[in-house]
Amino acid sequence: KRRPLLAGNWKMHLNIADAVELAKNVAAAAEQSDRDVMIAPAFTALSAVAKALKGSRLFLGAQNVAWEAQGAFTGEIAPPMLTDIGVRMVIIGHSERRHIFLEDDAMINRRLRAALNYDLTPVLCLGETLAEREAGSTFQVLEMQLRGGLQEVSAAQAAQVVLAYEPVWAIGTGRTASTDQAQEAHAFLRRLLAKIYNKNLAETVRVLYGGSVKPDNISALMAQADIDGALVGGAALKIDAFERIIRFQ
Ligand code: 13P
Repeated sequence: KRRPLLAGNWKMHLNIADAVELAKNVAAAAEQSDRDVMIAPAFTALSAVAKALKGSRLFLGAQNVAWEAQGAFTGEIAPPMLTDIGVRMVIIGHSERRHIFLEDDAMINRRLRAALNYDLTPVLCLGETLAEREAGSTFQVLEMQLRGGLQEVSAAQAAQVVLAYEPVWAIGTGRTASTDQAQEAHAFLRRLLAKIYNKNLAETVRVLYGGSVKPDNISALMAQADIDGALVGGAALKIDAFERIIRFQ
């Protein structure tokens, strides 16, 4: 059975001191649990948080990664720079990267393959906008994003990927997808993985849900057959809320 993964995407929040404090509290909460827990602080706080987490079972994540190992790429962070400080996971293709910074599937695919080549676990985010859902094209969008993101990725490498279904209309809006809507999308993504790769791989890849996850909706989401965890924004910035999410029943 797939092990639950509760992941906090801290986005563009927290100075170093606040990030270290929150990370320590999350690590303490994770220690009491057999679930996987990941936090993705802003780049400026990563190395201080990595030091504070030494010896902890928390997974340290970054919020993006470049596709080259070094070079003239102003503003980007290379995969070996992340592994150098102990980062093990990386969020790729977040809707804010896609929509605000215009990253497309081809660019996201390059980032994902680079992450895999450096043994960073990619958390590939996908999800439809409200307009796309209302136009009835949710599955088409998800299929484009999944196939595009996994272009030229072998089955052995795809088995390392974590997916995160984040409907854009549910991010930061307080409007969660219904458990049925989320389950339907997750099951679709899993069927697609079986089609692109094989059934065995589809059964092992974890698919997280993201979009207004809170302590009071996590249990219902996690009760769905194909929801294996959560990618949490706002509620991951408050230790009491995130701790309750980690400890969902
Ligand atoms: P919220 O939990 O704040 O809706 O953000 C979700 C998200 O984008 C996580 O990556």
